[in-house]
Amino acid sequence: MNLNLLYQYWKLKRHEKLSELDIKKIQWKRLKDILDHAYNNVPFYRKKFDDEGIKPSDIKTEEDLVRIPITTKEQLVSAGTDIFAEGYSPKNCFSSKTSGSTGEPFSSYFDSKAWDILKFASKLRARRACGLAVGARIINIEACSAEEANELNKKAKKSPADLFLKKRFLSVYDKIENHIKFYNSFKPDALYSFGTYFSELIDFAKENKIEWHKPKLIFTSSEILDPLTRKKIEDYFGPNVYDIYGTTEVKEVAWQCTSKSAYHINDDLYYVEINNNGSYPENIGEIVITTLVNKAMPLIRYSVKDLGCLEKGSCSCGLNFSLIKPVYGRDVDTFSLEDGRKVSPYQLTMSVEQVPGILQYQIVQKSKKDVLVKIKPDKGWNKESELKIDQELKNALDPNVKIEVRLTGNIEREPNGKFKVVKSEISQ
Ligand SMILES: [Zn+2]
Repeated sequence: MNLNLLYQYWKLKRHEKLSELDIKKIQWKRLKDILDHAYNNVPFYRKKFDDEGIKPSDIKTEEDLVRIPITTKEQLVSAGTDIFAEGYSPKNCFSSKTSGSTGEPFSSYFDSKAWDILKFASKLRARRACGLAVGARIINIEACSAEEANELNKKAKKSPADLFLKKRFLSVYDKIENHIKFYNSFKPDALYSFGTYFSELIDFAKENKIEWHKPKLIFTSSEILDPLTRKKIEDYFGPNVYDIYGTTEVKEVAWQCTSKSAYHINDDLYYVEINNNGSYPENIGEIVITTLVNKAMPLIRYSVKDLGCLEKGSCSCGLNFSLIKPVYGRDVDTFSLEDGRKVSPYQLTMSVEQVPGILQYQIVQKSKKDVLVKIKPDKGWNKESELKIDQELKNALDPNVKIEVRLTGNIEREPNGKFKVVKSEISQ
């Protein structure tokens, strides 16, 4: 048995009982430690601090943090090996590669302790809080090839973590009928994938009248779970549908608990800020993350290009981890209009979601004057639905924008396997 995995999990689990103040104390201590570590050991961050004329000891309060400039993915890519702490290299680290959906591919690297915590202990803590038992079976349906999924399964079976959570993998690109065969033989307690994957799975099972081993717990991640898709999943699988917010570069940042309102931030693993920079309404802003436990490649004030807002108050589930609402992720775009206005994806999805008769949709800005709405209709769709979409989107955008509504049986995923609800094809 791998005692380290167990130890890391036990340590994280203890934090669930802490008061808000005690969690904040741990977070601040870890934040200070990682700033010191980054300044002393990571050339990229030493230069960043030096360029601003600041030292980690100058960061005494949360307000002081903004003195450290934001880190972007572009900066990390061009910094090369300068983002590694002394003593770490790709050779002695675990890595995760992000696909190029928002530009250049980038690999982030983790030391083995951080890997155990972020890939295992924190996930187990979050899944257990949503009712998954120790030793339960879960299948991740991921954006990888079927061969890669096979390799991951071979590794998973041998991993000590298999004792705590029997995790298996499938390729989201594989045929759904193959998935169903696997579900019937492995009998999972939970599935974990993109919200839109479940939507396709449900359509397939219903159309073909398939009875299969349906798990009672569904975890969604990597895309924004729009209310329409959530409702569809809950209607089919039952109420235990929980969404997770994370990114490949930093892993799972926040997750929905059984109260299903906002998402609990893993405050003991991340420090999360919202950077409004005057471009977004109210409390919404870009999510900026500092990773607290990865010594190999710390990320400090890293802008993940997702939008969110922090929520005040406590959660009815009793956990004191702070709360965030990811508003819209990198997989949706903001529309820029001719008069210079920017329209948030939220406004656009609100416009379409109130129209009845829609199974799935995608709003695509083709040019500043043309918007295409792809609709996968259901029985309730009619001519009035189309008129309503036209009217709602013109209200949200501009009366002069041309709205084309196109009915389709299939709305394609992006090359990275994810699905964009709102997509702009003009350069931002
Ligand atoms: Zn909660």
